[in-house]
Amino acid sequence: MFSHQIFRLGSSRLAAGTALRGQFGRNFSKPFIKPQSIRYYATYRRFNNSKPEFDIRTLLRNRYLGYFVAGSIAFYVYNLDAAPFTGRHRFLWIPYWLETKIGDYSYSQLLGQYQNRIVPQSDPHYAQISRIMNRLLASAIDGTKDPRQVAHLKSLNWTIHIINAPDAAREPPNAFILPNGKIFIFSSILPICKNEDGLATVLSHELSHQLAHHSLEQLSAQPIYMILSTLLYASTGISGFGDLLVTGLFQMPSSREMELEADHIGCELMARLCFNFREAVNFWGRMEQFEERLRKSQYALPNNMMMDFFSTHPNTKKRIQDIQLWIPELNTIQESSDCHQFSLFQDFSRNFFGTLR
Ligand SMILES: [Zn+2]
Repeated sequence: MFSHQIFRLGSSRLAAGTALRGQFGRNFSKPFIKPQSIRYYATYRRFNNSKPEFDIRTLLRNRYLGYFVAGSIAFYVYNLDAAPFTGRHRFLWIPYWLETKIGDYSYSQLLGQYQNRIVPQSDPHYAQISRIMNRLLASAIDGTKDPRQVAHLKSLNWTIHIINAPDAAREPPNAFILPNGKIFIFSSILPICKNEDGLATVLSHELSHQLAHHSLEQLSAQPIYMILSTLLYASTGISGFGDLLVTGLFQMPSSREMELEADHIGCELMARLCFNFREAVNFWGRMEQFEERLRKSQYALPNNMMMDFFSTHPNTKKRIQDIQLWIPELNTIQESSDCHQFSLFQDFSRNFFGTLR
């Protein structure tokens, strides 16, 4: 879960890159020589027993190539970043401010799309959501030792929009937080949340994507995916094969890993704040029932292992199993938490939504 605008942007970047590469392919090679013959030409063609025109050993001995490879490795290692809470290392080279700018761009597009369906601020769900988000943000800030992350979270203009979505079958339940701190909750998800702990499950999961900068991680990996796709195309000559392999082997598992991490961080935040984290299991159970009903309806989606493999989101059953495995660890976190003594809302500086709720 759930739909992430920023992730879609990442995918379209890859698609754009692929299209660009395709254009170059058409201009310089495809009209003249079949892909198979490109390989033959590049590796075996000789003129009267003269030396081959292209020698891989010469290329490998090229010191500039060595500098490039060494520089790339140094750049990669320098930009390895540990995810908050889980400590998972990943490659992040794009600055936070650019992520926020991309969030601003997505936000203006979404406002244009949903401006007529924004539920008025008088709806009591706004107070409930801001109360939960204040607690989650205060706990997230207390839980990080990274001053850059703290400054980033405090600098964002956090805003909540509830979108009126009366027909859950046509517009499946959804919620997401943009990297610029704009929170979108579709009203169709509220009955599935059912209670405050269910709502905290959704909000903590979505906030965790932002705490771990998952959108930056996907954007940072795009050039690597493009290089891999291009190398696969150059070596096999099959258009589209490289994209499919890179998507199946790297991009989708990476997205699923981020989903798992968002669940893990979200449950930990809930445990620290004395939310009932067991409700996360119940929430996903209700979501599974909803998916089951949807599957049986006219909007049926295919559901088999192949689809799961190529899906960005983990199977809901698997998600529930993972959360159940974490329960002993979450119990320990909650027992050692001083959440009952938390006086978050006595402190106006810890309110991120303008008015004290
Ligand atoms: Zn998610």
